[in-house]
Amino acid sequence: MIKIVSISLENEMDLVLAHKRSMKVAERLGLTIATQTTFATAVSEIARTVIEHTDDGLLDIGLEQNKTRYNLVAKVTFNKDILFTNADAGFYYAQKLVPEFELKETETGNLITMKMSLPRSLKLEPVKINLLKSDFAEELPINAYEDIKQRHATLNKIATEQEEELRQSKLVDEKKTEFISIASHELKTPMTILKAYTQMAKATAEPMSEHLLGLLNKIDLQSNKLMTLVQQLLDISKIENGNLQYNMSAVSVNTFLHDQVAVMRHILPYHKFVTNFGEDADVLIDELRLEQVLANLLGNAGKYSDKYTDILISTSLLIDKGVIMVSITDQGRGMTAETTASIFNKFYRAKDVLKSHTGLGVGLFITSKIITDHQGEIWVESADGNGSTFYFTIPLATKI
Ligand code: ADP
Repeated sequence: MIKIVSISLENEMDLVLAHKRSMKVAERLGLTIATQTTFATAVSEIARTVIEHTDDGLLDIGLEQNKTRYNLVAKVTFNKDILFTNADAGFYYAQKLVPEFELKETETGNLITMKMSLPRSLKLEPVKINLLKSDFAEELPINAYEDIKQRHATLNKIATEQEEELRQSKLVDEKKTEFISIASHELKTPMTILKAYTQMAKATAEPMSEHLLGLLNKIDLQSNKLMTLVQQLLDISKIENGNLQYNMSAVSVNTFLHDQVAVMRHILPYHKFVTNFGEDADVLIDELRLEQVLANLLGNAGKYSDKYTDILISTSLLIDKGVIMVSITDQGRGMTAETTASIFNKFYRAKDVLKSHTGLGVGLFITSKIITDHQGEIWVESADGNGSTFYFTIPLATKI
């Protein structure tokens, strides 16, 4: 059937629409007033009977080609459980009005089809029918009720489309996470073996030239960098899958930070690490994960600042808030306000570092996840070209 008009049959107001629309279609086809009324009455009778029983009926009016002629057709679908009998006056009466009337059960519900054969003199052909279709698609609402109904339908359509878009983008995201997870697992095994062989080669008792040792050290350094990247990818997929797990223990903040700074002094020998620790306290942390946080924040402080500049690590005990606050200040390139607003987002990297510095843009995303999972907070203060300070807090193990 070439559908021209569709009306959902929910209440008495739809009865008015069903009647007016079927009159209008018959009128636009050029049928006589008597035929228009007969068709519209048959449609209204069925619509009324359906509305009396249910509110999920649907009326479609359209045309159907029958050899060289066209039929004017009205189809009404409604709930499978409702069965009309001739005791339903509207159902009985409508059968008398149209030449062809059929009730049958389909997959989606009961279906009543009413048909009237149209005279050839109307000269219907595809172009004319298409015009009729588009005229009805653009037809203004008959009354305020239809206006609201149409708006409601449009809103529903938009909502459904948006839901579908969201579902699709979630699917793509899931595929991406799955890929990252598989790729990082596959990369980790050969990386671990490569690193182990490098260590073995470095530790060999056989005589080795300075040059060869230098090359091995370079392989070792680069494989460490690769391992960090692979580990970051693994962490991303763990975060996405909700599998980041923590092994908590009570640790003295100052001792912990002191050890981390000692390690970073080896890794970044050309920076000057300055500490300014306040009163010490115990915190409940996953040490390995917090080591990762410090390695990322101190590593970034070194990476985005010049050699021979200072990196200051301070702590202050905020007793009233029940937290210890750690800050890491560098004298580096700093960040624009736009960058500071996005740095904790996954895969975000400032435009001006894309070419000059390597990285995946996930370190701070993982860091902030670890801190918030410890019930802490993390933020940054920075000025473009004027250094940055990263702050984070961790709740105290016991209230002081
Ligand atoms: P990566 O360093 O691998 O790019 P991160 O998630 O650690 O990823 O950092 C995200 C971005 O934040 C960096 O690309 C950089 O633009 C900016 N950034 C992080 N730390 C600093 C810092 N100390 N100084 C200036 N910019 C920084």
